[in-house]
Amino acid sequence: MSLNASDLVNKAIEFGFDKCGIISVGMMAEYEDRLEERMEHFPQTKEKYEAFKRFAHLQEAYPWAKAIVICSFWYGRYRIPDELQGCIAKYYLTDGRRNTESKGYQTSVAFERYLTDCGFRVATDREFGITALRWAAMKAGIGIIRKNNFFYTEKGSYQYLEAFLIDVPLQYIAETHVRPCAENCDRCRKACPTGSLEAPYMMCRNTCVSCLTTWDGWDLKSEPLQNRFGKWIYGCDSCQDACPYNRNAWKDEEEFPGLAEWGDSLSYSKIVLSDYGWLASVVQPKLWYIPSGKEWRYKTNALNAMLNHYEPDYLPVIKEARKDEYAEVRAMANWVLEEIQKRSIT
Ligand code: SF4
Ligand code: SF4
Repeated sequence: MSLNASDLVNKAIEFGFDKCGIISVGMMAEYEDRLEERMEHFPQTKEKYEAFKRFAHLQEAYPWAKAIVICSFWYGRYRIPDELQGCIAKYYLTDGRRNTESKGYQTSVAFERYLTDCGFRVATDREFGITALRWAAMKAGIGIIRKNNFFYTEKGSYQYLEAFLIDVPLQYIAETHVRPCAENCDRCRKACPTGSLEAPYMMCRNTCVSCLTTWDGWDLKSEPLQNRFGKWIYGCDSCQDACPYNRNAWKDEEEFPGLAEWGDSLSYSKIVLSDYGWLASVVQPKLWYIPSGKEWRYKTNALNAMLNHYEPDYLPVIKEARKDEYAEVRAMANWVLEEIQKRSIT
């Protein structure tokens, strides 16, 4: 089949992606310079960012790859239950990467199959991205990266990005009609609860609530920023929600599979008191950055939010958590009780 770049782009949109562009793998080279800038600004993050350099040199791992097809999927369409607003980042609530019933997952699988059926050699990484997705998407012209580091199209920043490597040198630079950030705007930086967004385009991943409630921050008792997490127990949307280009970006038009029921059954108290079978079967498959077997972490995160936004109803729940089967939860509950007394917030 003889296909040109716009055929592929149109097909991606037909399958359900919102926008699509195609760049050569060589167009990722400049990404390494941005990484170096970030590592220089935050030397404490060097070790974590070093591994990302491979994204600028895709030919080393995929010598056959010629182009990157990069697509955005708009998740601002979904209805978020009130109970979950401001506690769990919307991206994770509507995460289609592992949810086989979701439109995002099905769109991705269908498009990958289409590319393969067309005779392309294809590689992708549905979970973490095969390259630096925001950079690739910006190069492909489907949107811009704003000062809060998030990627925006005309519909705002609530987008998943997915990249597919192909072995044919196609190119399609899409059109974007998005104004850049105003020079004097710093609403996102002011909204950042931990100061992680230190300057335009400069976010320290070591102090970002999104990282500290998922990959890092395993002992919140000794985490100096724990009292700045506010209500967040998994991820953080503060710098996106504060942005004027996200005003009215969330549309609440569609149901994400199972999310309404999930929201009904979730509260800090429910998490802290729940049995580990429920956390493993209901919560972990959705909030999967916390690995299977470490479900106690949902409880310590919830206990932290209870301390940050204390209500007297929480007291018996926190006391009950001192009997939890995991030492990490018992220790966190004891510490939270001490802090409640110390901070005189009863
Ligand atoms: S996600 Fe939250 S903590 Fe991280 S930079 Fe944005 S506002 Fe700051
Ligand atoms: S809040 Fe202002 S500076 Fe930050 S990303 Fe939005 S427009 Fe840009």
